Amino acid sequence: MAGMKKILILSAGFGEGHNAAARNIRDAIQHLSIDARVEVVDLFESSYGSVNSFIKKAHLSVVRYAPLVWRGIYAMLDSSEWVNRNLGTMNRLNDELSNLLQQFQPDYVVSTYPAYSHAVQQIYRDHKERPFPFLTVITDSISVNSAWFRASSDYFAVANQLTADVMVAKGVERNKIKVFGFPVSLEFSEPHEALEDPNTAHLRKILYIIHSGKKKSGKTIEELLELPRMSLTIAVGKDTEMKHKMTARTAEYGKRAHVIGWTNEMPHLMRSHHLVIGKAGGATVQECIAAGTPLIVNQIIPGQEEGNATLIEKCGFGAIADKRKEIVQLVETAFDNKAQGWRHWKKNLAKQESSRGALRIAEFILSHSDETRPSAEPEPPFSIREKSMERVLQTPGTPTNMLLCDFHIHSTYSDGKLSIPEIVDFYGQLGFDCICITDHLADPRRLYGKLSALSSLTLPLSEMDEYFGVIEREKKRALRKYGMILMAGIEFNKDGLTKKSSAHLLGIDLEAPIAPAMDLPETIAHIHTQKGLAVASHPHVMKSEWGKNTLYLWENQEIFAPIIDAWEIANRNNIFTPVGLKQLRFIANSDFHKPKHINSWKTLLQCEKENAAIKECIQINKNVAITFFHEQSHFGNRDGANKVIFGDALLTPSPRNGLPMKLIQA
Ligand code: ZN
Ligand code: ZN
Repeated sequence: MAGMKKILILSAGFGEGHNAAARNIRDAIQHLSIDARVEVVDLFESSYGSVNSFIKKAHLSVVRYAPLVWRGIYAMLDSSEWVNRNLGTMNRLNDELSNLLQQFQPDYVVSTYPAYSHAVQQIYRDHKERPFPFLTVITDSISVNSAWFRASSDYFAVANQLTADVMVAKGVERNKIKVFGFPVSLEFSEPHEALEDPNTAHLRKILYIIHSGKKKSGKTIEELLELPRMSLTIAVGKDTEMKHKMTARTAEYGKRAHVIGWTNEMPHLMRSHHLVIGKAGGATVQECIAAGTPLIVNQIIPGQEEGNATLIEKCGFGAIADKRKEIVQLVETAFDNKAQGWRHWKKNLAKQESSRGALRIAEFILSHSDETRPSAEPEPPFSIREKSMERVLQTPGTPTNMLLCDFHIHSTYSDGKLSIPEIVDFYGQLGFDCICITDHLADPRRLYGKLSALSSLTLPLSEMDEYFGVIEREKKRALRKYGMILMAGIEFNKDGLTKKSSAHLLGIDLEAPIAPAMDLPETIAHIHTQKGLAVASHPHVMKSEWGKNTLYLWENQEIFAPIIDAWEIANRNNIFTPVGLKQLRFIANSDFHKPKHINSWKTLLQCEKENAAIKECIQINKNVAITFFHEQSHFGNRDGANKVIFGDALLTPSPRNGLPMKLIQA
């Protein structure tokens, strides 16, 4: 498309920081420009396949169990011999990259991992000039592995002046080095509430991040909680076993200890605590700088993380301690004596580079790609409404102009396997038009017996606001990147002791949380107040993973048929013929928990791609169809994986072609 700038960001999932940097730069470019097309690609993922995941696993286990071995490997990476030897074995990477560059024809290429500059150099060794500018974004600080700059780049973006100085000392031209700050998430530059002074009667809030490599944190946490006015948020990541253990272990401290699982609210969490305790990972240290929150480092992976630790000590915004006693002592001293120690750290943090690293890099890329390739006529801004209307008008009466929708999807906020951003990318790449996230919310009055064991699989009340916040943010990205409407929803689980007293109710397109401890008619009334839809999920007899059937709504149709907007006529692979026989308003959903559930019944709507129109179409239940969706070859197939990245143009075959389609009502 003329005028659209194509920017390719090359990343790798090895270690931490590379992918985070790549994603944040992408978001910043999309934030600044409506006509830039940005793709983040991990070529190690697609070209090396299972070999690559083996390398990654090996990397992680080496780091976890034998940091000294990793030090040896890191030193080896730093020698030119390694690159020479490695280049021989990286021919496949060169081939893949060369293919990618030919297909995508980028106007600008960015790399957040050192191997790519070597590959680019190899590919263009016989040419006078590369057809695109090339920027390497260095994710290490101070101890910069020379593999980053031994192959040429037009520019290097670094996090701070100290790192720039180290590179100049190693022979890199100073005018090629741009000190932009680390590309942390854009959320760090959004306004936020000021923290309460830790010296007043308020609690001293510590965010304790437990990384997979550091299991023995229980005793340290207990000792910290014994200190005066201490409050701890303990982030354990995806480790549910650890979450349960830690919750039990800190139960006696009541509200002063709060254990949380995986979260994408790190920017907010860091900024709402006085101190972070965690490891010296590149992203973590830079995020603390961006948040203005001092950091006590309790783990350093020798090699690249040593530089991060040096940065903390040289700049004086935290401390290093790996022994329990030292950590507790450091925290105590920091808040002692009117919190002077803590204030000193804060003052030094204020001198650091800004939290706008990603935006500064994005601005640089966008202005630089202007210089090199004057763009043609700018395209008018993309309008979803016009586009969908155009489709409707061009091909009247054919099913392909219908909106492909799924209104029943679970994320990691309850018992789903994908996070909300992962769900957006997954459905977006498959070409869906509208989806609704509906995590389980259990009625606390009904959690007895076997069901209480399942309570950890439902959306915790404490995470409700966060859940709505994350969906709100993702709505914008889903629309911008995929032209897909994202809705917030809840599956209200009203489980009784028998199937006839159990019901699951979907609230679709909600604006705000709804309390869990309400009876069904009241819950439905609240959904309607928010202009949402109330939908009976799996209302009839089926094979249920959740446990028993949920027949309460069906058994009490005379009460509920008038107030329920639609009934699931199909849920995943189950079809409920009686819903059709009774001529109830219907939709069909995946009840998605993991990627393989995408192969299931879906709703097709013939209406405008717009929230109110979609809901009205379901309510009136005219031009509603259901289809069994086949994922076909897009995922789980390495060749396909690359193609999906580029969107519709290269999706072969189209996910909508050749689908068996069953029009129930027209
Ligand atoms: Zn359910
Ligand atoms: Zn469900």
